[in-house]
Amino acid sequence: MERDAELRTACFLELAALRARFGPDLPYRGVLDRGFTFGGGRVPFLSPQKGIFRAAAQRGPAALSVLTSARSPYGDEETDEGVWYAYRSGAVDIADNRALLRAYDLRVPLVYFFGTQAGWYRPLFPSFVVDRDDVLRRALLVGVDGGPPLGDLEPPAEGVARAYAVRDTRVRLHQARFRGMVLPAYRGRCAVCRLHEARLLDAAHITADREAAGDAVVSNGISLCSIHHRAFDEDLIGVSPDRQVHVSRRLLDDEDGPMLELLKGFHRQAIEVPRAQRLRPDAERLARRFERFLLVSG
Ligand SMILES: [Zn+2]
Repeated sequence: MERDAELRTACFLELAALRARFGPDLPYRGVLDRGFTFGGGRVPFLSPQKGIFRAAAQRGPAALSVLTSARSPYGDEETDEGVWYAYRSGAVDIADNRALLRAYDLRVPLVYFFGTQAGWYRPLFPSFVVDRDDVLRRALLVGVDGGPPLGDLEPPAEGVARAYAVRDTRVRLHQARFRGMVLPAYRGRCAVCRLHEARLLDAAHITADREAAGDAVVSNGISLCSIHHRAFDEDLIGVSPDRQVHVSRRLLDDEDGPMLELLKGFHRQAIEVPRAQRLRPDAERLARRFERFLLVSG
């Protein structure tokens, strides 16, 4: 494998390891800013200042990563074609833009770091630059899969494969953004059991979003641990509009070990909600969802 491909692989593998350790969203400070090991040294993953990043250790001309901050000041745009990533200001052929466009010419995989909250990023990799638009000064990014690379990586071909990758990318970006908003509102705890472990926490939707890229609002979410999220999705627990946990008949009538007793213990307990009124679960959404729970939980 040539050196540039080796460096990218090392980068992807270390990101996959970090994700296994810290969860899908990674803090810049203390984690991403440490870089990855390659050729006996440490190589940075990204540049929060510049957005488009090519490491000094690289021999190849193409960018290693691009980044959109949580505040998205550069007007990057998610569309049905992919994410249109804005060029840096200045001439099209300044060094950063050249590195971005060389990733297109050479069809090399890179990391798209998507800001989920201040100082936190979700890495989407491998991602590819699949088109460029010099008039609107932007390049089209499409992610392929969340896993570490195996074998040769190719940009998704146009047609069905591309459309699938785009839809998958949009869903993942939506979920990343939603989780980045909901978890901090709940101070990183499960609303039911107060579990405080980011790797085991999800942002559960109260009503499912039909449109993957639609506006994600905190009041349509609840921070739940994996067990309570799954139980909520399966209507084994419900949350009434007055924000009380209801455990389904099926579970309440069952007697099978300490874990079940723990689940049942939250029956009729209030969930913990954000302090700010506008961030709390929307009562109308809860009511609609709770009707379904009553219907199926018997
Ligand atoms: Zn929980």
